[in-house]
Amino acid sequence: MSEVERLIRYCKVDTQSDPDNENVTPSSEKQFNLAKMLKQELEELGLEDVTLDEHCYVYAWLPSNVEGAAKTVGFIAHMDTAPDFSGTNVNPRIIENYDGNDIVLNEAMVTKVEDFPELKALKGKTLLVSDGTTLLGADDKAGIVSIMEALAYLKNHPEIKHGRIAIGFTPDEEIGNGAKYFDIEKFGADFAYTMDGGTVREISDETFNAASATVTFNGFSIHPGSAKNKMVNAGSIACSYQQLLPEYARPEHTEGRDGFIHLCGMQGSTTHAELNYIIRDHDRNKLEEMKGWMLKAVDFVNAMHGEGTCSIEIKDAYHNMKEVLDEHPDAVKYAFQAYDELSITPLHEPVRGGTDGAELSLRGLPCPNLGVGGGNFHGPYEYCCIEELQQAVTVILTIVQDVAKGE
Ligand SMILES: [Zn+2]
Repeated sequence: MSEVERLIRYCKVDTQSDPDNENVTPSSEKQFNLAKMLKQELEELGLEDVTLDEHCYVYAWLPSNVEGAAKTVGFIAHMDTAPDFSGTNVNPRIIENYDGNDIVLNEAMVTKVEDFPELKALKGKTLLVSDGTTLLGADDKAGIVSIMEALAYLKNHPEIKHGRIAIGFTPDEEIGNGAKYFDIEKFGADFAYTMDGGTVREISDETFNAASATVTFNGFSIHPGSAKNKMVNAGSIACSYQQLLPEYARPEHTEGRDGFIHLCGMQGSTTHAELNYIIRDHDRNKLEEMKGWMLKAVDFVNAMHGEGTCSIEIKDAYHNMKEVLDEHPDAVKYAFQAYDELSITPLHEPVRGGTDGAELSLRGLPCPNLGVGGGNFHGPYEYCCIEELQQAVTVILTIVQDVAKGE
């Protein structure tokens, strides 16, 4: 089972990104260790123009083997692992013929089916897990494996017809910078897929629209013993501002297609206070509506406490990629078609977050996200179902053949 060997090999390379160094790409030098390994393996697989640039992006191309003009399809995965949990000395363990019960990772750590009921569906499958002291790193090394195994298969089966295939491995996805230096022009794909989802059934073509807001409060400080009718406490006003926003729109009360306003940071004193928010919704109009609530609350505070007490700065972050993918339907069409041919029942739900593909789509490379068989990302309970990973390889192989046929 070459997928599992390859996955173990990549998982053992520590590639954790560093949120404290987000102004530099890659944020951690060690991501180059995997990038160099992949560069060499891509060269050995006979890909063309394999490049590793100074920002730790790996690009490679497999030339078309069909006559005429087939579209170029791209596959993208990220090399870094999440900063949330250690990725040092990853020690993966294979569980063959999983019995569907709790998984003992070590003396202190057990993956409980009660907590993760989706494990029940994986009974009888082969799972890869960590030893509980680190994450596994299937997010997104399983994605890299799906792409590399598909390329290895194509090398051994030259009779399989495909158009030009573009490959991109990126750093720093987990700190939101995966697409930052991605060279779309050089990549040259008509459309692409990020291989970075959970279960192989997952196809995501819809993300949140995202904005952030900083709300600032100015107070007036005076000795509290003689403060009557004089002190204006910026900290207190900030607390009431938060109460002016609808409680039902907080993340802890939302799911599915509900958007939210999330207070993710606060600091304050009598003279000055600041609240930091992120705002999310799949529907751009609803996002604008929530921004409107926040602006209205600012006006209300200023009417109560005087002009200049409160101000807000709102910044847009990313947009729902569905707007782009609806205009360029090929990427999603070929994915659904492959799932249909392989009898995989698609799990098609809006992502309650963003993907690198969302940014790439808006910059001109239509790019939905596909699952590769992992679960419980970013922590010690992470696992990868090897049979699903193998299915992800066949999804890639099916897509490239269908695209070459142009049907
Ligand atoms: Zn990922």
